[in-house]
Amino acid sequence: MTDIKSMTLEEITAWLKEMGEPAFRGKQVFTWLHKGVKSFDEMTNLSKSLRAKLEENCYITVPTVARKQVSQLDGTIKYLWELRDGNCIETVLMQYHHGNTVCISSQVGCRMGCKFCASTIAGKVRDLSASEILDQVLFTQLDSGLPISNIVLMGIGEPLDNYDNVRRFLTLVNHADGLNIGMRHISLSTCGVVPGIRRLAEEDLQLTLSISLHAPDQETRATIMPVTRAYDVDMLIEACHEYFEKTGRRISFEYAMIDGVNDSDEKADLIAKKVKGMPAHINLIPLNEVEESPLKPSRRVAAFQKRLESHGLTATVRRKLGGDIDASCGQLRRKAMKEAATK
Ligand code: SAH
Repeated sequence: MTDIKSMTLEEITAWLKEMGEPAFRGKQVFTWLHKGVKSFDEMTNLSKSLRAKLEENCYITVPTVARKQVSQLDGTIKYLWELRDGNCIETVLMQYHHGNTVCISSQVGCRMGCKFCASTIAGKVRDLSASEILDQVLFTQLDSGLPISNIVLMGIGEPLDNYDNVRRFLTLVNHADGLNIGMRHISLSTCGVVPGIRRLAEEDLQLTLSISLHAPDQETRATIMPVTRAYDVDMLIEACHEYFEKTGRRISFEYAMIDGVNDSDEKADLIAKKVKGMPAHINLIPLNEVEESPLKPSRRVAAFQKRLESHGLTATVRRKLGGDIDASCGQLRRKAMKEAATK
């Protein structure tokens, strides 16, 4: 069976042509899929026989809402979606003044092992298909009734550890006959998978690359982010410089502030030294406490921000949304898994 929603317009058209269909059928099918139809029978401008043929050979991915939580504080909505095979993933919808933003997942679980992150505790189960990544945008928009203008690949999973499917998703979501969300409205966040960053640089897309830096020196970073043992900090920074040279796009660095680990002035000074020569935006994230982790939020966020600014860097502190609904970093999936385990 073929996962038809993961196919590009060109692929669908070529495939239908082989079955003797005219070229415009491809666009009709593609358009229906990206409207979020749940069955081929809803594709009313296709003949019954073609619909039956599609049904025989393909399936349409349709996630169902396993849980939905709406923040009373700011309207943030968190979805726990159940996929075809029973696995669950999270999507968060945030309402900003510049538009509605979805934070989407790229894998079921994660194998990167960052010490502060809830998504990785139980490891990676599998990659998401392009259609499953797209469905999060599509069905969040349909269910909430809120038009989505921005996407951040900052949910569960490491997008560059699922490169091909994520790349395909970008093509799909950006398509004029689909959701038509511009690359400039998409951010991709990575913990530092250097070969993936290099590949992305070659593609020269207009999206925003976010690097989860969290420490500017190898020693500290190795204690909280195992990925840095494969690709060390200096390799990562070098790949960022290259990325900027190739694409001309400013890089955004995420920095979760952890008490006594990465929040000293010396660390701020070292960040400034390392990113010198490329326009960088440092996004300071107050650490979200994860039950299983001993790491605590820093009390020096404002001082650290000032220190970065004293070097001429742009540093902002991320506003916390959805604080009342487990809205961060794999916490809802983790909670649902724990509840299921104790049942
Ligand atoms: N794997 C990708 C994208 C998912 S994580 C990456 O690592 O970038 C999205 C962001 O949330 C990352 O910057 C991640 O480091 C951060 N994050 C994870 N757990 C966190 C926590 N407990 N508190 C604050 N930020 C966290």
